[in-house]
Amino acid sequence: MAPEETGFSAPRGTRDLLPPASSAWQKVIRYAQDSFSKAGYQPVETPAFEQTEVFARGVGATSEVVTKQMYTFTDQGGRSLTLRPEATASVVRAVLENNLHRGALPVKLAYFGWMYRQERPQKGRYRQFFQLGIEALGASAATVDAEVIEVADRFYKGLGLKTILKLNSIGHPGESCRGSYNDALVAYLREHEASLAEEDRARIATNPLRTFDSKESSTIAVMSEAPVITDHLCSDCAEHFVTIRSALDAVGIEYELDPRLVRGLDYYTRTAFEFVAGDLGAQNAVGGGGRYDGLAEVLGGPPVPGIGFALGLDRIMLALGDIALEPAVTAYVVALGDEAIREAFPLATRLRRAGIGCEFDLMGRQMKGQMKDAVRSGARFAVIIGEAELEAGEATVKDLATGEQERVALDRLEEWLGA
Ligand code: AMP
Repeated sequence: MAPEETGFSAPRGTRDLLPPASSAWQKVIRYAQDSFSKAGYQPVETPAFEQTEVFARGVGATSEVVTKQMYTFTDQGGRSLTLRPEATASVVRAVLENNLHRGALPVKLAYFGWMYRQERPQKGRYRQFFQLGIEALGASAATVDAEVIEVADRFYKGLGLKTILKLNSIGHPGESCRGSYNDALVAYLREHEASLAEEDRARIATNPLRTFDSKESSTIAVMSEAPVITDHLCSDCAEHFVTIRSALDAVGIEYELDPRLVRGLDYYTRTAFEFVAGDLGAQNAVGGGGRYDGLAEVLGGPPVPGIGFALGLDRIMLALGDIALEPAVTAYVVALGDEAIREAFPLATRLRRAGIGCEFDLMGRQMKGQMKDAVRSGARFAVIIGEAELEAGEATVKDLATGEQERVALDRLEEWLGA
């Protein structure tokens, strides 16, 4: 029905996932769960909303996400809450609150959930979107960064998705590293202030690194000549970055160095990376991540280093196109005559209880209609029962792929279909 008839449609920037796309969606989530767990990342669920401060501080007060995109509301108790725009801040909050950082390290967690950002909707950009992510907390070794990247890389490759990995290090906030870089960057930006887009001019004072995120063409032109962070890394950060690259080289994971990749969130330290898929148009980032060694402290905890990624399922599905799905059911009971019709539900139930996917007619169709519906269901076999079959204690099992059929004893159906 058109929205003008009911008066309702899904809110702007959201969409319904309907069969069969919804099954493909679930299949990719299951695959992600499996591939993340193969590296020891265990599932975590955090609330879909948090105290606004968790994101305001955890994502960073000067980030676009916090300044422009959060769904913030006041509940009946007068508390300011925000639908999660991303999950890292929530996961770190949960780790600190539950003292996981005082237990076995690193803490390795995976999440699969909806995120909310009030962005301008377009292809591949929604206001409710789904992220698959992992976080490793409590370890600062470069091998952890390499492992996190490996998990994402293996996931994309396993799906057959071609991606380009862009890699950078943005150093740590100290004077010997990003501090000295910031000075050089601010000096450069001041020199070119007149050519910057207006909103980027304001960023010179608040967070100069963010100018690299700008979507304004005048700013992008200025940034292409700007000094880059990798020329200013302190020796520890430079060594950390070299170690990650050799670890990736050792396992044959290719990457492009991108010294202008800074990522949109404020608390990234050292490693920043992004995966892009070639043919997605403007919204081609299918995932990204980085190290956030300062985040736990920003949220009021002790220093706990961390690194993670978030992959955008909506865009991954767009990039994959149609994917092959196994049929949900194996059998379809076709029933002819009153007695057989009464038997259809118990028989389907029996097969389902034995673990065999099964449907039967719910619309009172004739034989021909039931056979058509059997094909629609994706079942491999039609289990046909009529008067003659019931009398003999048998069913006619028709292979819908080959057209072959044979009589099978009713009490042997589970065995026959399950084999
Ligand atoms: P971010 O949390 O911004 O680093 O995003 C990580 C990934 O989530 C991106 O690479 C996208 O694939 C996906 N993503 C972020 N924002 C959106 C959005 N509004 N709609 C769809 N996917 C998104």
